[in-house]
Amino acid sequence: MPDWELVCGLEVHAHLKTRTKMFCRCELEYGGAENTHTCPVCLAHPGALPVPNARAIELTILLGLALDCEIAKRAIFARKNYFYPDLPKGYQISQYEAPLCGPGRFLLPTEDGDREIGIVRAHLEEDAAKTVHAGGATGRSVGADYSLVDFNRGGTPLLEIVSAPDLRSADEAMSYLRLLRQTIRELDVSDADMEKGTLRADVNVSVRRAGEEGFRPRWEIKNMNSFRYIGRAIEAAFRQQVEAHESGEEVAQSTYDYDPDTDRLTVHRSKEEADDYRYFPEPDLVPVEPSAELVERLRGQVPEQPADRIRRLTEELGFAAADELVSTGNESKAEALAAEGLDWKTAAAVAMNRGDFLPENASVLARIVEANVTREALDEAFTAAAEGPIEADAYLSRTAVGDEDTLAPVIDAVIAANPEQVETYRGGKEGVLGFFVGAVMRETEGKADPKVVNQLLREKLKG
Ligand SMILES: [Zn+2]
Repeated sequence: MPDWELVCGLEVHAHLKTRTKMFCRCELEYGGAENTHTCPVCLAHPGALPVPNARAIELTILLGLALDCEIAKRAIFARKNYFYPDLPKGYQISQYEAPLCGPGRFLLPTEDGDREIGIVRAHLEEDAAKTVHAGGATGRSVGADYSLVDFNRGGTPLLEIVSAPDLRSADEAMSYLRLLRQTIRELDVSDADMEKGTLRADVNVSVRRAGEEGFRPRWEIKNMNSFRYIGRAIEAAFRQQVEAHESGEEVAQSTYDYDPDTDRLTVHRSKEEADDYRYFPEPDLVPVEPSAELVERLRGQVPEQPADRIRRLTEELGFAAADELVSTGNESKAEALAAEGLDWKTAAAVAMNRGDFLPENASVLARIVEANVTREALDEAFTAAAEGPIEADAYLSRTAVGDEDTLAPVIDAVIAANPEQVETYRGGKEGVLGFFVGAVMRETEGKADPKVVNQLLREKLKG
């Protein structure tokens, strides 16, 4: 399918890190007992009136500034009308025609320089409550015995960041999402944790012929909360749409569900039931008019962006490693080790492969890594380093066996015992090297120096 191009945009939703809800003073608590954080406002009792959360407005502007957005002089809350049991008002308060943050852009670093991803808008709304379907096999409403609603989440401030349809591959969409998540986290705007549900994404996918202007109908995949499935869903949507276009089938604009078991998308909501939310300005709230002073004060709080640091670290590490290190939030660990004298490449590799450690242990850990201790000793050191202060002496004495004369016979034996894998390796599948390294490490009870083992194996396997 070389002449088809993917057209993808993401709508990213993040729970804001405020102490209280968007329009009432109920406290936000992840994992709190059901229906313990509610009040007349978030339960929609008659006559209860919303009061906007000033901190949520500030956090939204802060993120907007980081995304180079125009900040509205006058933003308007709007009612988005629809019925659902977890939405007791019968409408959600959102922003429609006048969002807080207007057009902006996100410069995504790539192997070949920056790609500009347009930001259409970033607006503020409230989340719905959470419905739990019980008794069914699938956890969905169909087939469930009964459903329960937990109103703790109802009214949580929710930031929605809408990108332009500028993403051209599943990989690019994932890098954008990863880096946007890191940007959100560093601004302390949200935990942005998919597992906890504080970060979700709607994915819009269409395809077109290379060079074609304009857009074909798109599929929307709503409420995705797994990075892996987002990537797979985008690829599946691309394949299915190209197949449909090529066989002359109609591709209608609809909402789709992704099924990881079949790796296919199925229609969730058809065109005939298309959304009609009858938006209108929320009569219970005045427009939000952020002062120039507030916007300037917040602009001063935007730190150096992770994208900038990827560009800088690319010189030390190459793009792929710099991108991975920064986007996964492991950079500060690497920085701590590099500050203690480890070269950046080693520091980055250690930071990516090891868990968190207490900052006070960075200096001892750097020494242990350089001393070439056994893998076992290294594992123990890093496990202990997350708990409390560690002593270097306990680990430094346990150096790895890097002596070629000792390792050569072990390696020869492993090679002799696995002729099939040797053939596979010589056939061009270099990934099999890991199998041999693993075998040698087992034979030496983890005491061999993996660097030397790797090097010797490569030499001997050349044949
Ligand atoms: Zn409340």
